[in-house]
Amino acid sequence: MKAQELIAQARTQQRPALDEQAGKALLAEYRIAVPQSRTVKSVDEVDAAFTQLRAPVVVKIMSPDILHKSDAGGVKVGMKSAAEVKDAITAMAASPQIKAARIDGYLIEEMAPVGQEIVIGGLRDPYFGPLVMVGLGGIFVEVLRDVSFRICPITRIDAEEMIDDLKGAAILAGARGRKPASRAAIVDALLKVGGENGLLMTHADDIQEADINPMIVSESAAVAVDARFILR
Ligand code: ADP
Ligand code: MG
Repeated sequence: MKAQELIAQARTQQRPALDEQAGKALLAEYRIAVPQSRTVKSVDEVDAAFTQLRAPVVVKIMSPDILHKSDAGGVKVGMKSAAEVKDAITAMAASPQIKAARIDGYLIEEMAPVGQEIVIGGLRDPYFGPLVMVGLGGIFVEVLRDVSFRICPITRIDAEEMIDDLKGAAILAGARGRKPASRAAIVDALLKVGGENGLLMTHADDIQEADINPMIVSESAAVAVDARFILR
């Protein structure tokens, strides 16, 4: 589905946000890498979906009522068989928070190559228009608020500076025995999101907030494994 259709579909369904699947489809339209995935409504559909994917896979709850899937027991990673996937879905469906929610289905997706987790975000400012943000994943963003913002559209030089502005930049470069995260892949993703013909500029009238959290960056690639877009 084309980018504008994904947004139109959410509006037709009177949803305030694109769900994870639609969000990733939007990213894919901008050639940002996302995992191969299938959605299922029930365990009966798992066998067919699983054979089309490369294990190990992740299973995630899809619900307009659940924003933090892990907190709700709605994410399970590293499953190597269809049987494991079915067990995970059965366990999820039994969890109290998920029982109380509207369920769109379950997303089964391939695991991204191992790497460092970063966050790329976007925000529509009433005065400046779209802003793009980058940060390191997990506690770096949530606790230390080590993030860097720019007004869109950004250039390649802006994207490079955004990365250098992070206090944790050395971690991305491979400090303390970590494998370096591909800087080129991060710059590329930032430009696809916040650059001149990027996602945020193109959809400035429609997108209030964007959150790719996390994007997993290996030595050679950056894959968006979670995505959420709040519409204006
Ligand atoms: P939420 O943020 O709603 O709890 P996520 O989709 O971000 O759920 O998944 C939680 C965590 O699981 C991610 O931060 C990441 O560490 C891991 N994860 C999710 N999807 C994948 C994937 N496709 N490949 C590898 N790790 C993943
Ligand atoms: Mg997430």
